[in-house]
Amino acid sequence: MLPMAGGPRPGNLLAGLDPDQLAAVEAPRGPVCVLAGAGTGKTRTIVSRITHLIHSGHVTPGQVLAVTFTARAAGEMRTRLLAMDVHGAQARTFHAAALRQLRYFWPRVVGDAPWDLVDGKLRLVGQAAHRAGAGTERDTLRDLASEIEWAKASLVAPEDYPAAAARARRDTPAPAEQVAKVYTAYESLKNAARVLDFDDLLLHTAAALEEHSAVAEEFRDRYRCFVVDEYQDVTPLQQRVLDAWLGHRDDLTVVGDANQTIYSFAGASPRPLLDFTRRFPEATVVRLERDYRSTPEVVSLANRVISAARDRPAGSRLRLIGQRPTGPEPVFAEYDDEPAEAAAVAGRIKELVEQGTPLSEIAVLYRVNAQSEVYEQALAELELPYLVRGGERFFARQEVRQAMAALRTACGRPPEGELPAVVRALLAPLGLSDEPPAGGSARERWEALLALVELGEELVATVADADLHRYVAELEQRAQAQHPPTVEGVTLASLHAAKGLEWDAVFLVGVADGTMPIQHADGDDAAIEEERRLLYVGVTRARVHLSLTWALSRTAGGKRYRRRSRFLYGLIPENHPTARVAAVRQQETPRPAMGRGMTPVRYCRVCGDKLVGTMPVKLGRCQHCPSDLDEGLLAALREWRVDRAKGLKVPPYVIFTDATLLAIAEQRPADRAALVSISGIGAAKLDRFGAEVLSLISGVHRSSDV
Ligand code: ATP
Ligand code: MG
Repeated sequence: MLPMAGGPRPGNLLAGLDPDQLAAVEAPRGPVCVLAGAGTGKTRTIVSRITHLIHSGHVTPGQVLAVTFTARAAGEMRTRLLAMDVHGAQARTFHAAALRQLRYFWPRVVGDAPWDLVDGKLRLVGQAAHRAGAGTERDTLRDLASEIEWAKASLVAPEDYPAAAARARRDTPAPAEQVAKVYTAYESLKNAARVLDFDDLLLHTAAALEEHSAVAEEFRDRYRCFVVDEYQDVTPLQQRVLDAWLGHRDDLTVVGDANQTIYSFAGASPRPLLDFTRRFPEATVVRLERDYRSTPEVVSLANRVISAARDRPAGSRLRLIGQRPTGPEPVFAEYDDEPAEAAAVAGRIKELVEQGTPLSEIAVLYRVNAQSEVYEQALAELELPYLVRGGERFFARQEVRQAMAALRTACGRPPEGELPAVVRALLAPLGLSDEPPAGGSARERWEALLALVELGEELVATVADADLHRYVAELEQRAQAQHPPTVEGVTLASLHAAKGLEWDAVFLVGVADGTMPIQHADGDDAAIEEERRLLYVGVTRARVHLSLTWALSRTAGGKRYRRRSRFLYGLIPENHPTARVAAVRQQETPRPAMGRGMTPVRYCRVCGDKLVGTMPVKLGRCQHCPSDLDEGLLAALREWRVDRAKGLKVPPYVIFTDATLLAIAEQRPADRAALVSISGIGAAKLDRFGAEVLSLISGVHRSSDV
């Protein structure tokens, strides 16, 4: 058949593909499976295949249904299809596709009874937990909700939950029998309220097709070609929907990479991908090895990360071959603490931006969403816009909003004591225990609350007489500064949310044991392997620049009890500065060699000792060494900062943080060179504010001179 009028000719369409990709694109109608590693063009291949099938007249655009796992990936697929001039083909998530179909078929399979999507699922889980006599704290409810989701995604009914949970070695939030009771109560409450949750959308869609032949017939007449991206993360429930869509047909193209299976904890499994040829022995199977996304340096690291994986199933042992020109080596760097790590990452991002990398081509990826705060702050300090993906901005998090409310209320009658201790006490009822919870939502919540205490500690170190009022005002300023309406910015995302995406520069942060792999994976080999795959997903997001960093302590000046991720052993080159730093640290030699991207070693200008922690480095002295603060100058600088902040309509700390002002007032830099040597003042700030600050300094006589 002739190509469709108006669209690009197949010749153009196929021009940019390699022979293996072409084999998948041009395979005749029927089952096709592309098993390939990250960045090999799987997504590109399926988009081309859809286009090719349409152009060659096998199907019309309206008969195509392509599914993937995130709304963003589905959007990306639609954009790419439009770029190929394909209009009318559907690219959706499983849920969005099911929602649409159910709305259409519902009156025929159920009748006039209306339904709605559940609003406030946690409330419903709460009622169910109450009925079943389980805990009803918010974190428990979240974990119970995840457990019910896992069961439904795994096609496990309430009565079968205890046995299934034991088989899958689930870490249950309550005794399995009790979870089963909550699950039963949840289902009946939901049915009584005539609402459906997301998993019900899939269940009902499958049932409508399985049980109503007229519905199935109409559906199968309408859709004739199915495509699934990221098939390694399909759940039994999604597979059931896919089977219902297909019926006895086999027009199915699946693509995936078993090494990127990162949702096993939620019930997903790579088995359907790996067993595809068992189910469809006549399938065209294509393996791609050429990596078009990343430089050979990044590809080599990715190969090494994944080759260490244990028990890799047959079919997942692919070795990527980098196709791009050579680029910089991946950077590994260790920091004393998280704020130092974040500051260095933000600094490096600024350099990349100044050298021409667009903000939207840079990502900071972390293991859990609560890690975003310190990066949000570090980027805000350098005035770099950012977008938080797949998670909420720090100040929008529920526990942070609750904490702010509690702190504000406490301002009415501030408790006695040092600010950090007061904050700790106020946040304890919200979940800030002395010891961190092992994992799950409670741990994320704990981390977020601890971040608030740390802001208090920083404030006390920089502002004389900082009290609860001052602290709450500071938090409010920060909350405000984190809500500028940005359209373009650095992406902050969890590794899970980064699947399928790519950036020129990727910063993998917090690559320390306990975070990556996450603590609660310890002791469970399968969970550890999933963490390793998560690191592989992270590494393979980078096109050119890749940085892996970790911090020995969480807080500035804190005890350095952490160590780098176990996944990095054997990956960092022997002669790499980081390897040396680690070795030198063990011998306690005072001056370790430093490499690019490392925190420079600085010494106290009062006692000459090595400075540890962000605050001492900023101030240029140990915290216990006497301050030679010029109070008059500090007051003048503060006044100047307030004026400038008003004029520029930004919060004052965006101009200079309190710590930077304090350092200026202590060190009284006499010229630009001395000013820029203060940590927190880069070239951009020097250009913008340097002259004003220097003239302020020369205009204000030392209080002690008068
Ligand atoms: P992931 O496993 O991470 O989802 P993927 O296999 O789906 O990766 P794609 O996103 O399709 O990979 O492709 C990775 C990058 O390589 C994209 O920028 C894509 O445009 C490019 N690419 C793919 N195939 C080719 C090719 N034959 N020539 C040039 N560039 C290509
Ligand atoms: Mg892809």
